Amino acid sequence: MSADTNLMPIPGPIDPVPVPRAAVQRADGKVELVGLPKEEIRAALESAGLDPKQAKLRAKQIWHWIYNRGVSDFSAMTDIAKAQQPWLAERFTLTRPEVVEAQVSTDGTRKWLLRTHDGHDFEMVFIPDADRGTLCVSSQVGCTLNCRFCHTGTMKLVRNLEPAEIVGQVMLARDALGEWPSSPEGRMLTNIVMMGMGEPLYNFDNVKQALKIVMDGDGLGLSKRRITLSTSGVVPMMSRAGEEIGVNLAVSLHAVTKEVRDEIVPINKKYGIEELLSACAAYPGANNARRITFEYVMLKDKNDSDADARELVRLIRQYKLPAKVNLIPFNPWPGAPYECSTDERIRAFSNIVFEAGISAPIRTPRGRDIDAACGQLKTAAEKKSRAERDREAAAA
Ligand code: SAH
Ligand code: SF4
Repeated sequence: MSADTNLMPIPGPIDPVPVPRAAVQRADGKVELVGLPKEEIRAALESAGLDPKQAKLRAKQIWHWIYNRGVSDFSAMTDIAKAQQPWLAERFTLTRPEVVEAQVSTDGTRKWLLRTHDGHDFEMVFIPDADRGTLCVSSQVGCTLNCRFCHTGTMKLVRNLEPAEIVGQVMLARDALGEWPSSPEGRMLTNIVMMGMGEPLYNFDNVKQALKIVMDGDGLGLSKRRITLSTSGVVPMMSRAGEEIGVNLAVSLHAVTKEVRDEIVPINKKYGIEELLSACAAYPGANNARRITFEYVMLKDKNDSDADARELVRLIRQYKLPAKVNLIPFNPWPGAPYECSTDERIRAFSNIVFEAGISAPIRTPRGRDIDAACGQLKTAAEKKSRAERDREAAAA
């Protein structure tokens, strides 16, 4: 089977249902153990021939090596018999995404270009702050949703990242930050936002499976309170996200009228603002101590007027939402159809929301020198595939 059968061309501006995609077959035929629940590791070992008792013990040991020690080689697992290590390595694998490029910004922000085992590139960003360190994790290669201000939405091909590729991002960050063995004290990496490439609720099962391991006290051990999932508004999946994953919710609202949101966030044509805000009001676990974040990208003369700010306040009140608003200065990319609002306009917008008693910080762009702004991960991947296309064209 060619790996490319798992890539889907963008079906149009709106892809209304989450599309289940079979896991990509690895070229070497080995079974990936990263990203599997402990019970499934056990089952995999048993079906490879270990007796049930041994399979259970080995699963426990392997899990510990993967998530507490950061090991990616069976030969490092010193409590597993030397003779059994090659047997495991022939059948199973413990893969991290491949690092194609790693960059560090003058402000400490780090960006990685990563590659899947079947050759697709995606990105990950780490943003250190005084009191925390946030890893911005991707859920898909590309995105089917085509928001007009978002560079990821212009990528031609999409594939869901597998659980191993999602958990693997967090593990890679720990490798780079020197944070093994896993311990909760003194970590730089304290928070995770699912705000990299892709729409996490269109890859629900894989994101859920991966985040379960990230949140497992015996796994990577990050509290669900320190994890935020950002969605453009896949309404039918929002309650499941709250019930089954239980992390903080961020919603990419970006506009307060149907006309403007239809234009800039096309999924709005399928799930409108009223439906979206009702789903937010019903989001399990949201309360004043755990607010929903509304992301609002500031686009000049598009969504940034005083009237827009007042309407935003009205909507938040109408739906009685425990909300905070994150104002994101638009990060331009070549060919983008919008410009960023002026600083003055952004401040005026922020003040109106703030004076209504709703927190409305203006997000400071980070890692500008390496194009690392979270959420608009610049697609070096895309640039590369374009270069590849050019080469192909030249060779033809
Ligand atoms: N697909 C999800 C998560 C990834 S995008 C979502 O849309 O919520 C993460 C955030 O970055 C979203 O709020 C997104 O709208 C925002 N974003 C995308 N492109 C941007 C750009 N060029 N400038 C500023 N923010 C952008
Ligand atoms: Fe996809 Fe989010 Fe970008 Fe929209 S903003 S195209 S949903 S990644």
